[in-house]
Parts: sequence; C-alpha cells; structure tokens
Amino acid sequence: MSPSTFPVLDGHHDALTRPSAGDLATGRPDGHFDLPRAARGGVVAAFWAVWCDGPGSDPVPDEGPDGAWSVPLAPEVGHADGAAQATQAAGRLLALERAGHLRVARDVGDLDAAASGGPHAAILHLEGAEAIDPGLEALELWYAAGLRSVGPVWSRPTAFGDGVAFRFPSSPDTGGGLTDAGRALVRRCNAMGILVDLSHLTARGFADVAAVTDAPLVATHCGAHAVTAASRNLTDDQLDTVGATGGLVGVPYIVDFVRPDGQNDADTPLSAVVAHVRHIADRIGVDHVALGSDFDGGTVPEPLGDVAGVPRLLDALREDGFTDDEVRRIAWENWRRVLGATWR
Ligand code: ZN
Repeated sequence: MSPSTFPVLDGHHDALTRPSAGDLATGRPDGHFDLPRAARGGVVAAFWAVWCDGPGSDPVPDEGPDGAWSVPLAPEVGHADGAAQATQAAGRLLALERAGHLRVARDVGDLDAAASGGPHAAILHLEGAEAIDPGLEALELWYAAGLRSVGPVWSRPTAFGDGVAFRFPSSPDTGGGLTDAGRALVRRCNAMGILVDLSHLTARGFADVAAVTDAPLVATHCGAHAVTAASRNLTDDQLDTVGATGGLVGVPYIVDFVRPDGQNDADTPLSAVVAHVRHIADRIGVDHVALGSDFDGGTVPEPLGDVAGVPRLLDALREDGFTDDEVRRIAWENWRRVLGATWR
C-alpha cells in the first residue's frame, strides 16, 4: 500500500504539555507526537493544546460490572494557577516558532503554506479556558500571541462552565452547561474569529454553545456515541446539530473512546477508529468529519503507534471504501473549509 501523499491536519494533540520544546523539534524517544515524526506521517498542521495540570487530572477509573468505568470529576483549577501554567506552555510553542521549527497559524494562509511544503502550522488551542479571566481581558493578549481555538472547559469546571465527566457507558448529560461568563466567551470568540471547541462539554454545555454561536459547530476530538457509548462522544442528535451548521467533528484515536467495549487496550485495530469516521460520514456527510488524534492524551491503537503511522490510518479509510477524494477531505479539506469560515 502506498503511503499517504495527502497533507493531514490533526485536530488535537497534547504533546506541548508533556515534554520539553527541544524534544518536540528534534524528536523524543517516547510519546506519540514530535515534529520529525509528524513530518514522516504527513501531519503538516495540528491543533497544539495548552492544558493545565491539577489535582485529580489523571486518576485511576472506578471500575464497575461489564467493563463499565467512571472517573471522578477533577476539581477546578483557579485562574491564577491556570494562567501561570498556560503562559509557560504557550511560551514553549512560541519558542519553537522563533527557532524556525514551525509557524503558529494565524490565518488560513499559514495552513495553505504548510500544505505546500512550508513550515508545520501549529494552531494554538486552549483546552480549558482557565487562563482567561471571566472578564475576558486576557483574551486579547492570547489572540495576539496566536490563539485561534478555545475549549471553554476540559473535564473539570471552569468559570465558563461544567466539564463532562469521563464515564463508560454514559450519556454526555453529566452536569451543568455554560455560565453567563461562558456565553460571553463564546460571543467574544465569534467576534474575534476564534474557534470554540465543543470537546469536553456536557450535553447542556454543547446545547448552550449551539444556542449562542454564529460559527460552524466544531468538536476537535470526539467520537460517535452510537459506536462507543462514552460520555466524551457525541450522540446522533448532537452530530445532526453539528452537521446542520456546516461544522466538523475530529475523530480521536484514543482506544477507550473508539473501542465499542470502551476498554483501555492498545490491541485495537485501526478499523475501530474508521468505524467512527464511517458513522459520522454516513450520518451527517463526509464533509463534516475529520481527524483529531488526541496523541499524547491516552492509549492509541498499537497498529498506529504514533503520528508517523497516520498514513496507515488513511489506508484503513480507503480499505473501508472511502475514495481518495473523500480521504483528502477528511484529512485536510474539511478542516481548511471550517477554519476559513471561523477565522474571520
Ligand atoms: Zn481532550
């Protein structure tokens, strides 16, 4: 099978909050994502998540009968702590740009350049808006630094809303929605041309964003609940809502979100990821599904390995019957279209 010749835009990875900047530029012996391996995998652009550590952020799940599991919701990380961690991580990304290893994407021209052999385009994303004050004054500074995507919450509460608890099986309806500050954040992001990410929101938070936003709805890294009944995945009704706005769902490769049995087992075929892409494409159209790996955020299928293995995933999409043109849209064009409509 031929390796992919398509450029790939990855909707989410967590490498920035894992190793040192030098390792990301030159390669590291562990983990899933660094720039040399991304280049080998054809991943020429990606959302680089800035995420804040805090108590309860990596607990051992409580296990129930028949493979059920749940994780206690992590407590809030305050604005001061979150801002300190996030500015440090963003500085790490900007240092990579200063050293010439990548370009922080500020408009779609940077994506087009990356697809044409230019530097890797890194989309600066806040996974949880702890770094932003409820009055939103810090948002201007972050925009100036290159911020183009904000998730109001990770799976913990913030000033902007509740995060969804990690549970399997479970509906995404695990808590409250956006606060007034959260609705103001969505409106301000709309006005500034910053993408608002639905990932990690509760069902109520999802509905609140959908009611407020005037941009295409985007979940950067969520699977299909009909395939894997995890609380982090989107129900068919939610998928329909995304599709109706011309939006996009980036499918993650994390095994406990893509295996039908919800288990954290790397012995998982690539067809498990493909099943989510197929379900979303059949439900709302191939123009509304993309890739959002969650590399360095959990366990990925052993046949994939790391970001250098992405061409094998594209081959698995072809084996499922997606045409070359459809694979190109899933890998690149859909993200390009939605980001072009959002970053105005
Ligand atoms: Zn995440």
